[in-house]
Amino acid sequence: MPATSLDQVVSLAKRRGFIFPSSEIYGGLQGVFDYGPLGVELKNNIMQDWWRANVYERDDMEGLDAAILMNRLVWKYSGHEETFVDPMVDCRNCKSRWRADQIHGQCPNCGSADLTEPRPFNMMFKTAVGPIADADAFAYLRPETAQGIFVNFANVLSTTSRKLPFGIAQIGKGFRNEINPRNFLFRVREFDMLEIEYFVMPGTEDEWHQRWLDDRLRWWASIGVSRERIQVYDVPKADLAHYSKRTFDLMYNYPTLGYQEIEGIASRSDFDLGSHSKDQDSLGLSARVSPNSHSTTRLTYFDPTSNKHVVPFVVEPSAGVGRCFLAVLCEAYDEQMVKPPADEKLAAVSDALAAYLKSAGKSEKISAEARDALVARGEAIATDLPSALPQVESLLAMVGADQIELGKKLRGQAQPLTDEHFRTVLHLRPRLAPIKAAVFPLKRNHEGLVSLAKGIRKSLQSGGRMRAVYDDTGAIGKLYRRQDEIGTPFCLTVDFQSLEDQTVTVRDRDTMAQERVLVAELQGYLEERLV
Ligand code: ATP
Repeated sequence: MPATSLDQVVSLAKRRGFIFPSSEIYGGLQGVFDYGPLGVELKNNIMQDWWRANVYERDDMEGLDAAILMNRLVWKYSGHEETFVDPMVDCRNCKSRWRADQIHGQCPNCGSADLTEPRPFNMMFKTAVGPIADADAFAYLRPETAQGIFVNFANVLSTTSRKLPFGIAQIGKGFRNEINPRNFLFRVREFDMLEIEYFVMPGTEDEWHQRWLDDRLRWWASIGVSRERIQVYDVPKADLAHYSKRTFDLMYNYPTLGYQEIEGIASRSDFDLGSHSKDQDSLGLSARVSPNSHSTTRLTYFDPTSNKHVVPFVVEPSAGVGRCFLAVLCEAYDEQMVKPPADEKLAAVSDALAAYLKSAGKSEKISAEARDALVARGEAIATDLPSALPQVESLLAMVGADQIELGKKLRGQAQPLTDEHFRTVLHLRPRLAPIKAAVFPLKRNHEGLVSLAKGIRKSLQSGGRMRAVYDDTGAIGKLYRRQDEIGTPFCLTVDFQSLEDQTVTVRDRDTMAQERVLVAELQGYLEERLV
């Protein structure tokens, strides 16, 4: 079963080093996160998988890596200077700032309805290029990678001799000065984007839009994001930008957050290439564009069939890596009962939980809102024991929960029972898992076992074929749990039999089944299963 609350995933991601708050030792920076040792592996694996599926496994795509800093005119003619804005309001009571379209007329901080009129706030970060900060030095950090593709359209076309339809894929950082970053990786100010601009003959865009929708849904399923939890939202005409013919938003059902956009697939007409092109008047554009007096290049394609220059139409699938990372973790997350706890031990947890919630319900130490959320969550856990036992830990990590008396006592009852009877496991697709194999010696003070185990780890990892680790810091059972929790698909144990017959025990993360495999055959055995 996937995660039932975002807290479970947030807590695991922090505890095990997937994600750290940026500049944490100085109090952090709001809306910015760092990917830790496991996070960077998972993130890289996701990005590589997207690249493989969209560039290597298709024959109509090229790749690109454009710079983050660009000439300011890019953002003038793309329309971002004028329209990349969110409506901002101030709460006159507590002075906080919000995005007007997300708060339903009431300040989420203090509840006041005394808000200013919404005014546009441009989300692009500004900087200066070079040592003299005058008007010529002014630049933006890109809020999307797409514009780097459009302004390189003619370069890619002339250096690759591509014919329509074809696409350009790019992975890179985007920066948005979000008014209210929140929900962990979901809304941040710096993030990686997965973007494709697919160029088609005018008149064929509807067909290609549909094909990309199907293709992208297949990819999401292939990385383990269930089709059941994705809804396709056909954005109503009234909500579309003037140049957009149609947009499908893929909405993923995140625990706690509900359905939220994970990818947008937009049919953008000839707006983008037309906006950045010179000689616009002679191009017969269908989109309404601002007159461009700066571009040096006509962004057209010569169609050999009609002997005419045309401005291709664009279909754009665009997703954020962070939202994808979060969805992959939520899907993979599982808390499994390995064996049921004894009745009397469970009763002790129930009593401690009831006492804790009673105290929480009366506590003056936290806000009414936090108290209600805490009690509601605790009651849900109470009715779902023993299977909800591992969730006690994330209950105790909720805002203000540590202010409640009896929290220590509850943890003292719940934690040992959870450790003994449950395992947290990430059922990641093996090819996405940060670590593919963990190698353990049965005894850490036996030289033969240790050196064989270390040798296996080294040979598995040589040539960069897979990430493998060696661990001897606990009993085997504990080491298994540690790897389950981070999604390592295979654990290899070197025991005394290994020294005799050159086999090791390979234990499968999902089934927990074990089999003996010859050391000489390990590489092939694992690679076959890392799909
Ligand atoms: P939203 O309406 O949620 O602000 P958007 O419609 O502005 O998103 P797009 O401009 O379509 O988003 O960006 C493409 C993708 O980039 C989104 O589908 C999302 O996955 C990701 N993305 C956008 N903004 C953020 C953000 N602040 N933090 C993390 N990912 C983001």
